[in-house]
Amino acid sequence: MTGPTIRFLGGVREIGGNKILIEDGADRILFDFGPSFSPRAEEYYVDYLQPRSASKAKDLLEFDLIPRIPGLYAKEALGDGDLAYAPPEVHGIFVSHAHADHAGYLELVDPSIPVHVGEGTRTLMTAIEKSTRMKYGDHPWSVFSDRQPIRIGGIEVVPYPVDHSIPFAYGFIVRTSEGMVAYTGDFRHHGPRASDTHTFFEAVAAEKVDALLIEGTRAGPDPRRNLSEAGVRSGVDRVLKERPELALACTYPRDIDRLRTLYSAAVASDRDLVVSVRTALLLSEVAPRFPAGEIPVPGTTPGLRVYARKKRVSYLWERPFLADALPSDEVRSRGRKYLLALDLAHFPELIDLRPPRGSPFIHSMSEPFSEDDVDDRVMHNWLDHFGLTFHQMHASGHASGVELLELIRATGARRVYPIHTEHPEAFEKAGPTVRSPELGTTYPIAG
Ligand SMILES: [Zn+2]
Ligand SMILES: [Zn+2]
Repeated sequence: MTGPTIRFLGGVREIGGNKILIEDGADRILFDFGPSFSPRAEEYYVDYLQPRSASKAKDLLEFDLIPRIPGLYAKEALGDGDLAYAPPEVHGIFVSHAHADHAGYLELVDPSIPVHVGEGTRTLMTAIEKSTRMKYGDHPWSVFSDRQPIRIGGIEVVPYPVDHSIPFAYGFIVRTSEGMVAYTGDFRHHGPRASDTHTFFEAVAAEKVDALLIEGTRAGPDPRRNLSEAGVRSGVDRVLKERPELALACTYPRDIDRLRTLYSAAVASDRDLVVSVRTALLLSEVAPRFPAGEIPVPGTTPGLRVYARKKRVSYLWERPFLADALPSDEVRSRGRKYLLALDLAHFPELIDLRPPRGSPFIHSMSEPFSEDDVDDRVMHNWLDHFGLTFHQMHASGHASGVELLELIRATGARRVYPIHTEHPEAFEKAGPTVRSPELGTTYPIAG
């Protein structure tokens, strides 16, 4: 095939795992490189059974869980597997945002391949590496700015900020020698930065792109409830005002918008928001990337406290936050003064906290998709055991099916490829320009 092409190496008929290769003559660049969350990935590796850290790419390639691309993987990660090491044939990787399903396999990539991320994303990744087991590997990191073009050989990439459930998320417009591509990354159209998403799609329409690669997490049948961020805020306000006990909430660990919402609601009802040490680190590290005062910072901003979980040992990075942290007996005895944001993994703290029966638990995350969701069952077992009252309040990080179709029509893109979705067929309503991509197949951009 002559002329520039797109190849979909992940994110096809699945949510997450996006890996998109654009080739133009000798130039090859990748967009996102994360693990898939699909059931297929869990046929071989599950929580307790993981690839060996010394030969991760080899172990994933055994079951075709990552693409067989020469000149992409690190020598060490390939080990003595059947895909032999080759010097880099990929000239850069662009990361749309710091969610694991987009960035979680960078560790496998040859350390000499440049990785392009937004400034804020790099900050988030550093905080994530410091406070979790996630590793991104060593790379020449190249930090881009909003709407500033980056040139890789003959290809030009322009990153546009979009609104998503993690800050510093980007869509890209890519100019090749013959044709333009837009890749949305993950986005929503109803969040606090909806105007960013709007500006991106205006640019996509103005450029008359040949190919629009659009995420469709919420395309197709989705009975789950979805609020706006303001809707979450008023729901949390209502619960905190009605209930005089300790209030508990859980949300996604990197959803800074939600943490801000919980913080403002807590302060408005004369409570402190109490967060985990990991959240405290994240807020401290990202705050300088926002206008002054926008992000509550532990130790500085009134109304924000850190919770001291019961642990035998603390990591070095945790210690600065622990000096002034609240132990469980303080939170228990003055419960009505606090909104405690726990992770589900921190539920054993309830054994010490013992909130009065009927105390509210705000689940500020997606509802489970299936009724036999194990994590959901376990969560409800805990809530029932402690007699907590469940409240579902969440604003999704993704655009709705109706919004997706409207946006597609407005772009006038010549060809539309739905990705990051289990329901590409739901896009057919957008008309004959939609083509559901096949995994590993190469498509011409201009053809
Ligand atoms: Zn995603
Ligand atoms: Zn995402």
